Amino acid sequence: MSVSQPRRVTCGELRAQASGDRVELSGWVNSSRDHGGLIFIDLRDRFGLTQLVIDPRAIGEAASLRAEDVIRATGLVRRRPAGTENEKLETGEVEVAVDALTVLNRSKTPPFPIHTDGEVDESLRLRFRYLDLRRPHLQRNIALRHRAVKAVRDYLDAQGFFEIETPMLIKQTPEGARDFIVPSRLHPGDFYALPQSPQLFKQLLMVAGFQRYFQIARCFRDEDTRADRQPEFTQIDLEMAFPTQDDVIAVMEGTLANMFFEALGEKVPTPFVRLSHAQALAEYGSDKPDLRFGMKLQDVSAAFAGTEFKIFAAALAAGQAIVGFVESGGARRSRREFDALAATAGEFGAKGLVWIARAADGTKSSMPKTALTDELMGALERAAGFSVGDAMYLVADAREAAQLIAGKLRLHVADERGLRDPRRFAFCWVLDFPLFERDAESGALTPAHHPFTAPAPGSESLQGDPLQLRAQHYDVVLNGMELGSGSIRIHDPAMQRKIFALLGYSPEEVERRFGFLLEAFEYGAPPHGGIALGVDRIILLMAGGQSIRETIAFPKNQRFQDLMIDAPTAVEPKILRELHLRVDVDPVRRP
Ligand code: ASP
Repeated sequence: MSVSQPRRVTCGELRAQASGDRVELSGWVNSSRDHGGLIFIDLRDRFGLTQLVIDPRAIGEAASLRAEDVIRATGLVRRRPAGTENEKLETGEVEVAVDALTVLNRSKTPPFPIHTDGEVDESLRLRFRYLDLRRPHLQRNIALRHRAVKAVRDYLDAQGFFEIETPMLIKQTPEGARDFIVPSRLHPGDFYALPQSPQLFKQLLMVAGFQRYFQIARCFRDEDTRADRQPEFTQIDLEMAFPTQDDVIAVMEGTLANMFFEALGEKVPTPFVRLSHAQALAEYGSDKPDLRFGMKLQDVSAAFAGTEFKIFAAALAAGQAIVGFVESGGARRSRREFDALAATAGEFGAKGLVWIARAADGTKSSMPKTALTDELMGALERAAGFSVGDAMYLVADAREAAQLIAGKLRLHVADERGLRDPRRFAFCWVLDFPLFERDAESGALTPAHHPFTAPAPGSESLQGDPLQLRAQHYDVVLNGMELGSGSIRIHDPAMQRKIFALLGYSPEEVERRFGFLLEAFEYGAPPHGGIALGVDRIILLMAGGQSIRETIAFPKNQRFQDLMIDAPTAVEPKILRELHLRVDVDPVRRP
């Protein structure tokens, strides 16, 4: 019998119909077991697992194979003996009886098991990221990311958008974070900045007449380290000429719905719910509301008018508000649970939490009994639907502070009750943002989005209290996470100059930093607007994961270090000399 040329297959493709075929497979030894003198290997590649059966008397090397060794095997496909099929594996009906084996490379014992997703210390995983990436959940997440981003490209291409790259070595763009700075060797003493976003370039692409631009853009922000942040991240960045706010919103809804369908098979209903910024704060205590569950906040100040409860009476007299929400079925909680919730509210900044539990056998509360009048209970029932069986939580503070604290408590209670189901996707838009905010630390006026955002109709005169001005700024939110922000931009150089002046930029600084943009606006800049969405976050929510590091092939750790390549590091003195730089840090004192 002549031996036919083997067919090269992946480890994921063999089915029962292939029985009798001669095949060649290459991959990694996922596991190896010795059963009654035969060696069973699960061979793994990106596409799946295939069981190999090897007789070590014929192929001696088989006995020496260890996890993660790389081999090529040839053999005959056959059905597994009845009763030994593995339903969990797509190739589980068959096995390959190996007649030739080549060891392509050996592996040291990996520092953690590759074939399972068991808990492993994250620094070890990041140091050996190339091994971590072989593990099933990261293989899945990276594949998901590929499909999601491809869906974005396909969709936007079909909508007439051009994908255009913008430079990485630029000058500062104010997005509210610190820039990463790159010294120029050819221009000693001068520096580039890495883009915080392609913001100004995409606006210039509109001046350049491209009308519809997008980019899967890498952005860099030198912010303080925080749990779920990366110093470099990816945005779906887009810009349109002549759009209304509704046009940008419609393109983005289409992009997201298509992305979720193509990558996850999830049908996301459009249009998304729209809330004004004020409504989001009033009803959810957040500008990124989680709409997967109810428990809306209520301002119940009126119900407490004339209350005997001194703390609330004093708060109302001081012009503060009483904001709360009802947890349906919450009356079942024990006093200990209520005390724990009060402690949590304290961590969120509450000066105190008032709870009322309305059980069938009576009402319990942290308020004195005398304050729990029938009148109050009736008023709370009418205002907030507070019924028998429910608990209600109340916070008194300046209105917005009370809303923010109650909003955090709302999420906490929802977490406890398992109401934040990661398999549900509740999108919404938050609209009608203020144009400016006060910086919490410096008290200075800062843009709520960025200084290129156009004021809303009615706010264009820029007269009156700047904090009352509204912007044509929109955020898209999913499950309580901000996915991205955008705005209609200023295209009139005079208006742009006025905004810079309100923000305290001197005319010289404006000229130096943004002269090119203002000049471009003098040459027929079209009205334009756009948005940018964080890809890492979207993939995180799609994957139902805990950390954006699980969505990025080579992320930095929480201290923004790359533990695999060891970055950042010191550079040779010769390089510093070429750059005309002197480092003013004692090497032994470096953290
Ligand atoms: N450049 C903005 C950002 O990165 C998004 C935008 O306004 O399009 O948040």
